[in-house]
Amino acid sequence: MIVNGSTHAMSREPASVSPLNAKPDAIRTEGRPPRPKPNGAAHAPTTPRAAAPTFPFSAIVGQDEMRQALLIAAVDPSVGGVLVFGDRGTGKSTAIRGLAALLPPMRAVVGCPYACDPARPGDLCHRCRDHAGGLEAHSVPVPVVDLPLGATEDRVVGALDLERALAHGQKAFEPGLLARANRGFLYIDEVNLLDDHLVDLLLDVAASGVNTVEREGLSIRHPARFVLVGSGNPEEGELRPQLLDRFGLAVEVTTPTDLPTRIDVVRRRDAYERDPEAFCAAYAEADATIRQTLNRARAYLPSLTVPDATLEAAARLCLALGTDGLRGELTLMRTGRALAALEAADTVGIDHLARIAPACLRHRLRRNPLDESGSTARVARAVAEVFAA
Ligand SMILES: [Zn+2]
Repeated sequence: MIVNGSTHAMSREPASVSPLNAKPDAIRTEGRPPRPKPNGAAHAPTTPRAAAPTFPFSAIVGQDEMRQALLIAAVDPSVGGVLVFGDRGTGKSTAIRGLAALLPPMRAVVGCPYACDPARPGDLCHRCRDHAGGLEAHSVPVPVVDLPLGATEDRVVGALDLERALAHGQKAFEPGLLARANRGFLYIDEVNLLDDHLVDLLLDVAASGVNTVEREGLSIRHPARFVLVGSGNPEEGELRPQLLDRFGLAVEVTTPTDLPTRIDVVRRRDAYERDPEAFCAAYAEADATIRQTLNRARAYLPSLTVPDATLEAAARLCLALGTDGLRGELTLMRTGRALAALEAADTVGIDHLARIAPACLRHRLRRNPLDESGSTARVARAVAEVFAA
């Protein structure tokens, strides 16, 4: 279902929606642990390896705001999901796959459908918790799971088989896409075309890190921590403001308009498709540098505190823009801190806020009929006014 470096046409292939495709997979991961293989990465349940390696994250040309937002979410998933607005074919899906591929492989319990982390006993699923004796672990790549538009709720959250449960007195649960996305990324192409109810549900799970499935008095919970990345084309249907506001970051991507950048994009894509191995080898070092930066930032993040002056600036900015609630400030604080961690800065400063303010706030503005300028321009103007004072 996931093709490395896939085009949008491929990721929307209806064949990947078919529950027939999904079932054997889910059944295979239930119960019996898979046979160990010499290379743990080769049988990750979520990312069947295509022949070609993933297009390197460091080889993506431009799209700085999107790349930065994804890195920030990888450093601190609590910033909330990332919404990517923009044209088709701007490499949204490629960027997510590229980022996931450069993240260090994760240690996961062998045979666990949620890829539980054996080093975090508090986050184990009920199966791993009930497991007598030591848990066997192996390394698997960070999952990237595509959520197809036609997916049913059962396919997304998992299905409870009531008949089996009643007949055998046991919980018969077939994990869904949220189980497979645990500890990784969940990508929804054209999230604005997805049913509001499903978007709402996904945002709930992403915020709590737990998926709860309830059917007629039966209930099951399992860990589902993932970075939700939704892409949307604003010309093809809008998200309700209540849903927009629940995404941490919103970034815009555009098809590059300057000639040298366009030529560069096409040249790299062509080089990659002609010889993926050689192309990836050429960017291996650059990818490794990003991986080190990410690892350092994750380790550094817990010790970074946000000074009162920075928090106050965040609050004044949100007041000036009239954003509802406190989600704006919270996102500004967490995103600014993650950016400062990525840059190994001593503290989280107003400069960090200024740089991430558009991504944190542009989707939280109320329509102002007297102000025809776009939301990005409105945020930029408020940043200039508030932070200069
Ligand atoms: Zn588990």
